[in-house]
Amino acid sequence: MKEFNRDQFKQDFKNNVVTLYAKSFDEASRFEKYHALSKTIMDQISKDWVSTTEKNKNERNAYYLSAEFLIGRSMGNNLLNLGIIDQIKEILKDLDIDFDEIEDEEDDAALGNGGLGRLAACFVESGATEGLNLHGYGVRYSQGIFKQRFEDGFQIEEGDSWTERGDFWSIRKESESQIVDFRNFSVRAVPYDVPIVGFNNGVVNTLRLWQSEAIDNGGFSFTDFNDFRYDESVSEKNRAEDITRVLYPNDNVRVGKLLRLLQQYFFVSASMKELIQKHKANHPEDKNFSQFHKYNILQLNDTHPVIAIPELIRILLDEENQSWDDAFAVATKVFAFTNHTVLQEALEKWDLELIHEVSPRVVDIIKEIDLRLLEDLRSKGYTEDEIEPYRIVRGELVEMAFLATYVSTSINGVAEIHTNILKKDTLNQWYELYPEKFNNKTNGVTPRRWLQYSNPELTAYVDSLIGEDWKKDITKLEELEKFADDEEVLDKFNEIKHEKKVQLAKYIKKHEGIEIDPNSIFDIQIKRLHEYKRQLLNALHILHLYYELKENPDLDMHPRTFIFGAKAAPGYFRAKGIIKFINELSKLINNDPEVNGKLKVVFVQNYRVSYAEYLFPAADVSEQISTAGKEASGTGNMKFMMNATPTLGTMDGANVEIFREAGLENNYLFGRKEEELAEIVDSYDPVKVYESNKDLKKVVDALLKEEKISDNGTNHFLDIYNSLIDPKDGNRADVYFVLEDFQSYVEAQQKIDKDYRDRRAWARKGLINMANSGFFSSDRTIKNYAEDIWKI
Ligand SMILES: *Cc1c(COP(=O)(O)O)cnc(C)c1O
Repeated sequence: MKEFNRDQFKQDFKNNVVTLYAKSFDEASRFEKYHALSKTIMDQISKDWVSTTEKNKNERNAYYLSAEFLIGRSMGNNLLNLGIIDQIKEILKDLDIDFDEIEDEEDDAALGNGGLGRLAACFVESGATEGLNLHGYGVRYSQGIFKQRFEDGFQIEEGDSWTERGDFWSIRKESESQIVDFRNFSVRAVPYDVPIVGFNNGVVNTLRLWQSEAIDNGGFSFTDFNDFRYDESVSEKNRAEDITRVLYPNDNVRVGKLLRLLQQYFFVSASMKELIQKHKANHPEDKNFSQFHKYNILQLNDTHPVIAIPELIRILLDEENQSWDDAFAVATKVFAFTNHTVLQEALEKWDLELIHEVSPRVVDIIKEIDLRLLEDLRSKGYTEDEIEPYRIVRGELVEMAFLATYVSTSINGVAEIHTNILKKDTLNQWYELYPEKFNNKTNGVTPRRWLQYSNPELTAYVDSLIGEDWKKDITKLEELEKFADDEEVLDKFNEIKHEKKVQLAKYIKKHEGIEIDPNSIFDIQIKRLHEYKRQLLNALHILHLYYELKENPDLDMHPRTFIFGAKAAPGYFRAKGIIKFINELSKLINNDPEVNGKLKVVFVQNYRVSYAEYLFPAADVSEQISTAGKEASGTGNMKFMMNATPTLGTMDGANVEIFREAGLENNYLFGRKEEELAEIVDSYDPVKVYESNKDLKKVVDALLKEEKISDNGTNHFLDIYNSLIDPKDGNRADVYFVLEDFQSYVEAQQKIDKDYRDRRAWARKGLINMANSGFFSSDRTIKNYAEDIWKI
């Protein structure tokens, strides 16, 4: 943004209250003021938005196709990136308005589950900040991820109608609607454009979210209504709107539901149609689309948008009358694929019958691609047996990851260890066929939202030490290292951490009703609830500490507050059992005066981006304790690191690179490595581990025997117990090696308890982590994508 006129802004803000609500400024509610402020900010953005869009028109553009964008709130982040956040805070102060209270009026745009959706949001922000032609395509779900609260310690889900009071951070572009044709009906895809503001650079890119609506007359049938058939009169409208009504609340698990596939097809079909139309308008001479790939590159965020591949071919064949060879040639040049998981239960495989329900032509095209693959491999001399592991269509199922891998120009994993596992296991046959396509792009997070915005105190202090250049080139944070032994700096780091802990404690008191002590160690695990993430390991250790304290109330231990935040997929019984278990521990421990002062457990409700902004800066310990080999990357780990917090973690995902960058001596590594687990998996006997460790046996047995905790007769705790040592379903026990890693985890925690007491030594570890967090900025990641894959 070029010029900012403070007085003008203030006047516009006040005028907007009056024009929007036809009341005087003083009469307006807090929400009405929030609305008017949002509008004033959007007006500031619009000029640069138009000029960026104009500039991009004839250039090469990259599009990030993602079924999820976990945006969170927009107001504060936009103000920060516009470079006017301090001025706006002053203006509000002049008007006697508290910024934090206004900000609290904004609902999170929670159009994603967890890491994958948040990554997409960080990526588009970094793209704009780096001045890249990078845009997003996604879905405007009218219900975001459910709101979570606890009742009796159980998770209760409620709807998230985040647009109900208005969504002021997008613009409806009615005239740019597309028609999407499903097998049995058609809908209108209406784009809502979200501005993606670059940091202090005048760039505003576009995140286009499609909303499904009825084609004619809003789908309302006057005839039915007139004949008193009220339900029928809106059935068309409802059927269309159902497509983008809800985000599926599943993280890292496949759902084979028709509606989910309709959603995927809906948003990629609208996107592909638009790109084809734009190309025709801008390059009318390119009759066979042979230049399409020069102007467009499409990144597929996991397999959710992979149906874009046959859809693009379909449009070229059926609507643009291209030959199969020409259409297929276009597809093989414009897609790139990111894999996000090695968990088998998360790899999408769609039933042909279901795809047929959505679009019969897409089934034909997928089968044709599979035949092409067959021919390809036969011509390369592969035998039928050798071809089998590559089949895209296997029986009635379509392997979406294989479809993506075959057609894409690039396949990447999201951390080094993850990419290596893809090469050696998950996609090994494809790596052998196309080694040149495989590459790694270690994830990152945006330092604007996750450091500058969430932690202005630490940001200002860093500015005072090394100047502000790091905000444009975050690798400059390395300059902090020269203060690693400066006692004054270390004390100040501790002081700021304490301030952030006080702020979090206040927020937790307000929202959870639990008092926590900022002088205790804040040990935080915040991420989706999943067995592979092993919140259960954390919980069993807490129970172990509790029993130790009961045996010896004078135990020499620094007071500790364990904080959890996590949503469980509503249908994931075991994950919900683990939430209940931790909430029972919380109740038991927080109400026991014998351990009070030493141990506290808080499970915050409705963990989401805006809550996360309070949690990351206030952590003393970052819990990244997944089973080695299972967490593709993790990005929460990076947010903690940026906020000067040591990691307690396994050799998994990006932890490996965090340990490398910041040094093992500044972090806490525990647990078996991935290779070790692969070695022992066949002979692993969890019962033996359990029998041979009395501390472990005691806490596992507590699931069934501890009288002061209860699952209220739901059998949740029996289920957890069985999963560890006695699965009734013929499966292996303890598939995530919770018992195997328990002792190692206990010992790492003991070391933390000891080390934390040297306050300066602890601050030093935090400082060195922060100084080396530059690599984990999504600016670095997005530049890697731009240079290696997108060539933009
Ligand atoms: C960063 C983030 C995640 C991802 O956390 P992981 O620890 O990497 O799984 C999930 N949810 C929210 C709200 C986040 O901000």
